[in-house]
Order: sequence, then C-alpha cells, then structure tokens
Amino acid sequence: MPDPLTETDPAVSEAIAGERERQESTLEMIASENHASEAVLAAQGSVLTNKYAEGYPGARYYGGCEHVDEVERIAIDRASRLWGGDHVNVQPHSGTGANMGVYFAVLEPGDRILSLDLSHGGHLSHGHHVNFSGQLYEVESYEVDPDTGYVDYDALAAQAEAFDPDLIVSGSSAYPREFEWERIGEIATSVDAYHLADMAHITGLVAAGVHSSPVPHADFVTGSTHKTIRSGRGGVIICDEAPADDVDSAVFPGSQGGPLMHNIAGKAVGFGEALEPEFGAYARSTVENAKALADAFRDRGLSLVSGGTDKHLVLVDLRDSHVDLTGKEAEETLAETGIVVNKNTVPGETRSPFVTSGIRVGTPALTTRGFGVEETDRVAHLLVDALESPDDDAELERIAADVDDLCATYPVYRDGGS
Ligand SMILES: *Cc1c(COP(=O)(O)O)cnc(C)c1O
Repeated sequence: MPDPLTETDPAVSEAIAGERERQESTLEMIASENHASEAVLAAQGSVLTNKYAEGYPGARYYGGCEHVDEVERIAIDRASRLWGGDHVNVQPHSGTGANMGVYFAVLEPGDRILSLDLSHGGHLSHGHHVNFSGQLYEVESYEVDPDTGYVDYDALAAQAEAFDPDLIVSGSSAYPREFEWERIGEIATSVDAYHLADMAHITGLVAAGVHSSPVPHADFVTGSTHKTIRSGRGGVIICDEAPADDVDSAVFPGSQGGPLMHNIAGKAVGFGEALEPEFGAYARSTVENAKALADAFRDRGLSLVSGGTDKHLVLVDLRDSHVDLTGKEAEETLAETGIVVNKNTVPGETRSPFVTSGIRVGTPALTTRGFGVEETDRVAHLLVDALESPDDDAELERIAADVDDLCATYPVYRDGGS
C-alpha cells in the first residue's frame, strides 16, 4: 500500500524515511532505545489517535468509548500478567509522567525524596533540580560506593535515618547492577517512607524473569513501556489496591488530560508480544549480549563502572583507559562509524553533563535485530577499535564498512513498513 504521507506531505515523509533508513543502517546501542514491531507501529499509527477518553474504562467523560475501553482493558490485563501487582495504570504519557503520578498521589509539595544521584545512574525525574520533581520536593541523593560502583546500602540506610524522607526512589537509567529491592524496601519501612521502584529500563527483563522484580518489595513500581519491553511509547504504574484510586486520580485529572489511546494500543500489542515465549529468549539474549560486551571491553582494557553488568547495559568510564577522550568525543567518533551510543556522566564525574567522561552502551536494540553473543562481540571490538583511533579516517572507514555489513545481514524491518 502506498504511504499516504508520501504524496500529501513530502517534507515529513522524507524525514521519516530518513529516520527509518538511519535505524536500518546504524547499530543502535543507546540503552533506552529499541525497535518496536510492525504490529506495535500499526497500533500507534491508528485511528485511536482521534479519540478523547478522559477517565478510565467504564467511567469516561466522553461517549463512544466502547472500543478504546476494550483496548485499555487489554493493556491493563496483559500488564498484570507480565508484572503482577494488584492495580495497573497504563495512561502515563511517559516514564516521567508515571513518576509524577506516584509523587502526586502520596506527597505534598515540600515533602522529602531520597533518590540515586543522576551521575551515579539516577534519572532527572527522581528529583533533579532542573526537573519539576526537584522544584516541588526537598531532595537528597544517595550514591554508589566509589570503590565498588555498587549502591552503598549501609550508607543509604544511615542517610535515610538522618534525612527522614517521605519517599525513597530506587531504579536507574545508567546503573549496570541489579538493585536490592528488598533491602531498599526494608530501609524505607524503617523510616516510615514509601518505596517507589522505577524499573524504567528493565521492564522487559523483569517481565521475562531475567531480572529480579521490584513488585513484591515496593509500594509503587513505575516503568517505561518503550525500552526493553519494546511496546508503545509511554509509562505504566503498578501498585496495591489501597492507593489505587489516589494514583489513578493523580494521573487523570491530576497531571494529564485525555489518555493517548493510540499509544495505549501500542502498549497492549507490545505487552501481548512480551507474553509469548519468544520474548523470554529475547530478554535472556539481551543480558547475555551485555555480558559479552562487558567481557570484550574488559579484555580490551576499558574500565566499567562496577566492573560489569547484571542487565542490558554497561557504563564505560573512559578516564582510566583514555584519559583525554571525553564521552562527547567518543560518542561523535562512534557515530562516524555507524555505532550509536550516548555520552554519560559517571560516578565522581569531573566534566560537565554536555561533555562527560563516560559512554553508556546497551544491547536491547541489537538483540531485537537478531544479534547473538558472536555478533555483539564483533561490535564490541569495532567500538574499541574506533576509540583507539579517533583521528584515523582510514581505520574509521574500515569499521564503518563492517558496521554496514552487520546492518545488512540483520535488517530491523524486513518488509518496508512505515
Ligand atoms: C527512561 C527513564 C524514565 C522515563 O523517561 P521518559 O523519557 O519520561 O519516558 C524514568 N526513569 C528512569 C530511571 C528512566 O531511565
């Protein structure tokens, strides 16, 4: 079927085609990104984008909601099967919105949040001063142990005792290890604080059982639906029955208007895919590939925060191996070869967040396109080769040719699609 955009809006159509080609012809190693299936894309690009559905299934402020009710119920039911928990809200437009929903449900402005420091792996929405969360609440951050790179739980317990937070946030964007959810839950209980576990990146790994689940150990669990779970873009909240009404009203009408029903349909479709046995194999392979990446990087002399990984990403601290190479330069050099990563601050960061001393490298998207350990190992070596010779154009061209070869062998979308 011809794409209706091609004729009516060549400018946007060409930009989308360009992005599609970029995704096909580069190796996406940004740890928060993935390639959703054609089915998820179809749901997201559907007529559901036309529908207003303020409220929740069976209790909407608008007529004509019978079909979107069905879609939202399917999304909720599948999410419950993936992650458990008594209550699920699939309406948050984003992971940040999901966190906002929890904060608005249980905190008052000025209340205290204790969360992982951004440069130690945390997220802006956990109370950073540039984010609403840092502006509305009083925030302290905990850190990883500088020697081990692991969260220092004894220090966290002592800090919680001293700071007396109302909410402790666990979960991360760039921490390569599993959190001890139970331990943080106990610390939260000991100071009479709520525990919010933000499993943003690892929703898919938790659903597949290849990463421990925070659901039994947290009062609230939030997640992103477009990272390792590969569904429609947005967020999700999971909680017990008791705070369910507060959470629902904090999302709508507290912080959002009408839900993005096309995205909720994309979530439903992706959740359905994640309930299939093949998804378990995907999630296992994503973690195996990240371990292969870590092994190859270590063999080639790179320093990894915490020495390795338990999940889908590694965080490279370039200061030991490449003292003059910044995260920004590394990102730019790799982009020349078709390997896409993001610069990232590291614990004890000495450079600005726009420059940084690290890169974050993840495997979810490569694993989606069919990479196993062997291909991942090959990419790891190409990546280090590029970092070794950032000014050698011939060498960068050789690496780019190898990247092209891998991309051609493992296409993302086989049959064209939109
Ligand atoms: C990605 C992420 C989020 C949500 O991000 P959005 O861009 O708002 O969807 C929230 N928390 C953590 C820890 C994340 O990594």
